[in-house]
Amino acid sequence: MATAESPSLTTYHYLTGFLLRRLSVASLASDTCERRHDQKRRACERRHDQKRRVCERRHDQKRRVCERRHDQKRRVCEGARLASGPMGNVPVPAKHCFSVERLFPMYPRLPLWMQKDKVPAPNQLPEFVKVVEVGPRDGLQNENEIVPTKVKLELIDMLSKTGLSVIEATAFVSSKWVPQMADHTDVLRGIHREPQVKYPVLTPNFQGFQAAVAAGATEVAVFASASETFSRKNINCSIDESMQRFEKVLHAAKKAQIPVRGYVSCALGCPYEGKIEPEEVTKVAKRLHDLGCYEISLGDTIGVGTPGSMARLLGAVLAEVPADALAVHCHDTYGQALANILTALQMGISVVDSSVAGLGGCPYARGASGNVSTEDVLYMLHGLGIETGVDLAKVMEAGDFICKALKRRTNSKVALAKTGV
Ligand SMILES: [Zn+2]
Repeated sequence: MATAESPSLTTYHYLTGFLLRRLSVASLASDTCERRHDQKRRACERRHDQKRRVCERRHDQKRRVCERRHDQKRRVCEGARLASGPMGNVPVPAKHCFSVERLFPMYPRLPLWMQKDKVPAPNQLPEFVKVVEVGPRDGLQNENEIVPTKVKLELIDMLSKTGLSVIEATAFVSSKWVPQMADHTDVLRGIHREPQVKYPVLTPNFQGFQAAVAAGATEVAVFASASETFSRKNINCSIDESMQRFEKVLHAAKKAQIPVRGYVSCALGCPYEGKIEPEEVTKVAKRLHDLGCYEISLGDTIGVGTPGSMARLLGAVLAEVPADALAVHCHDTYGQALANILTALQMGISVVDSSVAGLGGCPYARGASGNVSTEDVLYMLHGLGIETGVDLAKVMEAGDFICKALKRRTNSKVALAKTGV
């Protein structure tokens, strides 16, 4: 006999079924949700990881750039600001750390007298730059054709009226080695001397010095090399031997009250040895300064330097030789001379060698375009608001004269631009 379920039991089954269905749907929904959530979380973590790695890489790059800049600034700082600083032989890194420039931003209450005494910032340009004209000697000595003495004399006389205070006139070297300078005595005796102009001559040894003095030299220059091989090839002796020769010259010059300038060639590179370490140049420059040279000209003989290598070189040399006893002598083989000179000016150097019409070249560097031209140097200096006391137009006239005499085009970009030749 069939028994009909009671309405309350039917309702119970219906409700139970309904609840179970809902629960299973809810549980299914919950599973799906968790899976999706997991996927999203993992995707999110992956993206976050990628972003973090990219971020770390960028941060690393920025840090490295920052460190490099800091290193460069520190080197410039070590050389230029602290060379003539008051801390004597204190190691350079210590000078840097305890310099006024470094301490002052950290301790603004530093006494006022220390602030007043601080060394000029490295990018502060000098107000006056002495231009040393080396065209009649360094420029002409590389000419293959012998230049007549009267052409040399006319060039020097024209340059004497430009406002230049130093014109290197000739070299008392053996005519066997440098036939172009064989007429040194006639040149030095034949100049119409202007009272405000100095006419130094090169003297490689005591004999050269004696001959120069006999011909009326009132200032001489000795030349050493920072490269051992170049020294042997150029002046036939080692660096040490050349120093011994110069010692004799400087001793005699001191007695005769004749100022001696010193050159260090291959300061930024050697045709035989390649790269020259700044420490090697520093050693030679310091020795010349200690011997009594009043000014040391650092020569980029083959014109391979860049503003970077010039800054590194000066950073090292300025730690041993004061800025007011240094000059730069740049050749323009790689088109870097003006940039190198500007770097030197920013580091406190205020004496620059140059050659009218960019005369000269280097027998050791293929395509060497000679010394930086006096015209281009003057144009840059005057553009920077730096006084030189030299009349650019008159230097251009002298440049035009010698180029016509040598039957060649000027190497000065300024002369080319202004005359449209
Ligand atoms: Zn030179």
